[in-house]
Amino acid sequence: MPESYQASAALEKELRAALKGEVRFDNGSRALYATDASNYRMVPIGICLPLDQADVIAAINVANKYGAPILTRGAGTSLAGQCCNWAVVLDLSKYVNRIIDLDPTTKLARVEPGLVLDDLRDAAEKHHLTFGPDPATHKWCTLGGMIGNNSCGVHSIMSGRTSDNIQELKILTYDGVQLSVGPTTDALYDQIQTEDGPRAEIYRKLRELRDKYSEVIRTGFPKLPRRVSGFNLDELLPENGFNVARALVGTEGTCVTVLEATTKLIHSPPFRVLVALSFSDIFIAADNVPLIMSFGPVGLEGFDKHFMADVRRKNLHLADVALLPDGGGWLLVEFGGETQDEARAKAEKLLAHLKTLETPHDARIFLDPKTQRRIWRIRESGLPATASTGDDEENHEGWEDAAVPPEKLGAYLRDFRDLLGKYDYHSALYGHFGHGCVHTRLTFDLRSEAGIVKWRSFLFEAAALTVKYGGSLSGEHGDGQSRAELLPIMYGPELMNAFREFKSIWDPQNKMNPGKVIEPYRLDEHLRYGPGYAPWTPLTVFQYPEDRGSFVQATDRCVGAGLCRRSDGGTMCPSYMATHEERYTTRGRARLLFELMRGEVLKPDWKNEAVKESLDLCLACKGCKSECPVNVDIATYKAEFLSHYYEGRMRPRAAYAMGWIHQWSKIGSKMPGLANFFTQNAVTSPLLKFLGGISSERTIPKFADQTFRSWFFGRNKTQPRSLKVILWADTFNDNFHPEIARAACEVLEHCGVEVIVLKQKFCCGRPLYDWGMLDKAKALLQEILTGVGPYLEQEIPIVVLEPSCASVFRDELCNLYPNDPRAKKLSEQTYLLSEYLAKFIPPEKLPRLSGMAILHGHCHQKSIMKSDAEEQVLRAAGLDLETLDAGCCGMAGAFGFEKAHFEISKQIGELRLLPTLRSAKPETLTITDGFSCREQIEQFTDRKPLHLAEVLRRGIRP
Ligand SMILES: Cc1cc2nc3c(=O)[nH]c(=O)nc-3n(C[C@H](O)[C@H](O)[C@H](O)COP(=O)(O)OP(=O)(O)OC[C@H]3O[C@@H](n4cnc5c(N)ncnc54)[C@H](O)[C@@H]3O)c2cc1C
Repeated sequence: MPESYQASAALEKELRAALKGEVRFDNGSRALYATDASNYRMVPIGICLPLDQADVIAAINVANKYGAPILTRGAGTSLAGQCCNWAVVLDLSKYVNRIIDLDPTTKLARVEPGLVLDDLRDAAEKHHLTFGPDPATHKWCTLGGMIGNNSCGVHSIMSGRTSDNIQELKILTYDGVQLSVGPTTDALYDQIQTEDGPRAEIYRKLRELRDKYSEVIRTGFPKLPRRVSGFNLDELLPENGFNVARALVGTEGTCVTVLEATTKLIHSPPFRVLVALSFSDIFIAADNVPLIMSFGPVGLEGFDKHFMADVRRKNLHLADVALLPDGGGWLLVEFGGETQDEARAKAEKLLAHLKTLETPHDARIFLDPKTQRRIWRIRESGLPATASTGDDEENHEGWEDAAVPPEKLGAYLRDFRDLLGKYDYHSALYGHFGHGCVHTRLTFDLRSEAGIVKWRSFLFEAAALTVKYGGSLSGEHGDGQSRAELLPIMYGPELMNAFREFKSIWDPQNKMNPGKVIEPYRLDEHLRYGPGYAPWTPLTVFQYPEDRGSFVQATDRCVGAGLCRRSDGGTMCPSYMATHEERYTTRGRARLLFELMRGEVLKPDWKNEAVKESLDLCLACKGCKSECPVNVDIATYKAEFLSHYYEGRMRPRAAYAMGWIHQWSKIGSKMPGLANFFTQNAVTSPLLKFLGGISSERTIPKFADQTFRSWFFGRNKTQPRSLKVILWADTFNDNFHPEIARAACEVLEHCGVEVIVLKQKFCCGRPLYDWGMLDKAKALLQEILTGVGPYLEQEIPIVVLEPSCASVFRDELCNLYPNDPRAKKLSEQTYLLSEYLAKFIPPEKLPRLSGMAILHGHCHQKSIMKSDAEEQVLRAAGLDLETLDAGCCGMAGAFGFEKAHFEISKQIGELRLLPTLRSAKPETLTITDGFSCREQIEQFTDRKPLHLAEVLRRGIRP
């Protein structure tokens, strides 16, 4: 039994000795890799992160010695359960990811399997080439995974499936045979047969298999562009060049391990024109697909009214949605050309033809690439729009990518709608309509016996329906476990035998990803939930109002899409971007917390070290809260976890030094000279840093000579005005940078606003969350609610200068006190300075500015408040503004000050933000509102970042 390997210390030991890379058999790592993006969960034996191809070979050699199964993994975004197994997992994404060669002349690239698709596309783009198939996960999925699944994408219309774009594969069998495989001419075959050894035997068996089954392969494989289910035995036919490489594409790691691939690159038309067509419903839209395809588009996607309703309900891209014509079913048709005119002419030809038809429709044409991107964003929001969160009825993958011949799409969809009605399942329909491939996330109940019986029955009927239309159970995601049991419906017994024989030629011991695709587990086995799912439900401090009050439901949110593994933009997830470690992704952390609540491989106990370790590098930037398609909120879960982890224990010294900054600053600001003497001189500063757990490389911020509050209360009283605000004197701007709060005061008064500062000193307690000091944080919030209560009643806005403080009021406060109306009011009445000015002050009243500026948004601002108001105000004031997409600065509150985090903090800053700023023109202003962002920038560059308030004040008094 595979479980017996779990205790195999000898296997682990030998792998450690054999590999240069990493070997992890601890429960935390096993829990981390227990699932992919599917409904399945199988805890692996252990994880290896091979350093190079030689390491992959060594790992499989050792596994073979112990008879341990193997599962090779890329980004783990598989949706059908093919990327979780009781096996030794080889994660190739971290190290085995080079482009070995890219030759624009032959239009071929040699790549390692862990390479991210977009890394290849970016390199190819320099030569106006591309790798054609582009799954929605193109920014983080790997070539190995694409080859495993035979992936496709929007532009498969132009390029075909992954298999159509593979020239040669270097592969390794479980028995250690290494081969380069591709098309096989008769001469090559004959030459191979002159050799002794395994290659000749494998090729002989493949030829025999092909000859034995050639008739049924020719007749039994449905003819449609998106046949992804089953093995590509048709590639072995003589008319297809006995292509062994392409026959192995789509075998989902069940036959061989791919060590290297030679991929074809294609010319990508540089100019695009997009047409959005709307019809009265999705069925009529689908009926028109074959006609539209005859006009030669390079992309043809569709979505229905339920999809649009989901997009609207989740407030996704509302401004973009308004660009689409009205209707009940939409098609996006992209045309390509060598010139804009060529692409446009193709689009106009289609539109002219459509006008001659009687089918009512509406059309818009988009020539500008930026607007085209906006329209594509709507289609790309498929998962965030349709995945269930919060109070939604739960939905799951499981029947999400069947494909039929495009000419039958309309009829198939009508029958499919009836089938959904029969089972009372609901879903939006969308997908790659040009290739007849339809996506759905359906409202399956995968938690009760009855729900699973119903689901199973539905799947068999859905498979029969697809086959009736000459379709493929999978049109792009693969069979894995969720379709494998259904394959006989599509292929019949003889072809199933052929598949079995094919697998056993490569993997006679059945050790490669066993139980998937061939000789499969039942589709209702090893479910992530299942009827037995009874998670631990401990009491929590946060109340999780958006997750029905349940921490368990919050940790269930992750659907495994893996967006948190992208490195090319956005904020999420800084620690992954710096480490390329699954355990430092949003997904990895959510999965570990899920496993903790599940309480099997990880014990249900808050004192878990693996979870703690994974959360330790979370910067609490809240990037995931807005960028993750299902809004996983690791910053909150981290604070929750740490609050329990440290129950009855001392926290690290940094927690008391920096978590209690509100206390220390009360003392320090009373005698700033003395405090600064101790924090800044060469003798006591290192000692204080040591005691406070602060990195010796960091400079401790200096107390100002006079606090903002002392300045404010010491000046002459201002005239009462009709517009009033409370200017929030936060700990940082009051004690360390009063010039910012003074500037804000001046700007607000310049705009005709009366500024009120509260007499009582409050602190929102932001740093306390970093160490889970939630009792104290709650107590501080209670003080604030009492103190500001009367002002809230008078509807006086609270203007907050520090984004991380504003985010406490907008975010954590309502999660801690969801039923306190004062909390709701405070959250609603809290404004950043920019938000207040944008909402209440006419642009002409703003101070006037000129020149160029760069805006770096604080992560909490980008996630919770968004930077739109800040951009609006700065532009209205006259600045020529560039807003950076430079991720997190790496400081993230106290994170980067901590000794243990200094290096990674610097590394994160150096990924994008710091080099961008260094290369900016000296006269360009750098604007950022976060205290920690400014510290990071000042400590690592020679730029002087300014708060919005300081910049605007320059427009009053240069
Ligand atoms: C939100 C979302 C959208 C998606 N959209 C699309 C889409 O538009 N089109 C599409 O085709 N798919 C799509 N997918 C599915 C998935 O992203 C793709 O199949 C992707 O190519 C898988 O890449 P990966 O690196 O994550 O592979 P993994 O999931 O890591 O692996 C996939 C399979 O390949 C095998 N494998 C990995 N490396 C090797 C190797 N070196 N040798 C042998 N076998 C190997 C694995 O064992 C596994 O069976 C989507 C998934 C999600 C979650």
